[in-house]
Amino acid sequence: MSRISRVCSYCEKPMGADEFKCKSCGNLVATKTAQPERTHMTEDYNPILDRFAIVLLVVITIFFPPIAMTIGGVMLFNDHPYKKDTGKLLVTSALVLMIVFIFIFIGTGTLTISL
Ligand SMILES: [Zn+2]
Repeated sequence: MSRISRVCSYCEKPMGADEFKCKSCGNLVATKTAQPERTHMTEDYNPILDRFAIVLLVVITIFFPPIAMTIGGVMLFNDHPYKKDTGKLLVTSALVLMIVFIFIFIGTGTLTISL
């Protein structure tokens, strides 16, 4: 059985079932051919997506500590140990950041919320 099970939807050149980027035209091709062992409900631990999620979480933690705390709080109740750890990390770093921000604002005397 060949590894090639589908074609690029742009240039119709054959491509591997595990490839998401066409080698011929360089287009990103959605996995139209459903793989039997993988349903859309299965959690796919894509390392690229995971890294992006981490970056996103760091940004959220820095700019919106309360939101990060909320997300972290939800993740704390997740069954997955990895997510639980991430949740702990999120809540802790968000708390620390919030305290740091409060001290900076009080220290510089700029704690004037103007809406
Ligand atoms: Zn192509």
